[in-house]
Amino acid sequence: MENFMNSEIVVGETAELAGRLADEIEGGIRARAAEGNAYILGLATGSTPEPLYAELARRHREEGLSFQNVVSFNLDEYEGLGPSHPQSYHTYMRKHLFDHVDLRSDMIFLPPGIYDDPAAAAQHYEDQIRGFGGIDFQVLGIGRDGHIGFNEPGSERETRTRRVALAAETREDAGPAFGGIAHVPTHAMTMGVRTILEARRLVLIARGAGKREIVAEAMNGKVTSAIPATFLQDHSNTAWYLDSAAAGQC
Ligand code: PGA
Repeated sequence: MENFMNSEIVVGETAELAGRLADEIEGGIRARAAEGNAYILGLATGSTPEPLYAELARRHREEGLSFQNVVSFNLDEYEGLGPSHPQSYHTYMRKHLFDHVDLRSDMIFLPPGIYDDPAAAAQHYEDQIRGFGGIDFQVLGIGRDGHIGFNEPGSERETRTRRVALAAETREDAGPAFGGIAHVPTHAMTMGVRTILEARRLVLIARGAGKREIVAEAMNGKVTSAIPATFLQDHSNTAWYLDSAAAGQC
């Protein structure tokens, strides 16, 4: 492990990264359970965290790791997709994690995809997070354009949960899953940059050479809303979990 400025950098291959991250999460869950307290876990979607969720599910199945004291909050959801839509992040989370562990269904929170009043829905989500005392551990991915959650370029440091327009690059990346870019929603509801920065620990995972440039920029570049992931430099408890391709070591 290296220390760069305020942050830890963990470089390893996919299974090793998932294992180390699962160790951190398991340690947090067990420590809180021993005190009789809840562990508030912030979750991300996309292909990057899939091996982590598979490892957490395995630990539940084979090693008895219980999620009964876990409360989960996801980063974002596409606008217009109900919880059972195949491309919704509600569906993603059931498929990759929630259907495989014993998390209480009333302790699972995602931003809604369908709402009449986006500002009220966003405020409600912020209130729910605050109601549990904030997020202990937030898992993040990073978009090629430097987004975290769906905080696209231009998202300011003080943003909170809100309705956003998706960047062209983000919609392009989602195109194949939706059967073409024309079917990708144009908007989403996402936690804001400030919401994310309030989590007590942040772990950003990136894998593959396609993320190398943006990871380097996010870690070492000037802090700017043009690349929202650069705001992680302002957080004193952030770790970067990178495979060697994303870390630029091969
Ligand atoms: P990915 O998406 O994990 O599918 O690369 C990451 C993101 O856009 O945050």
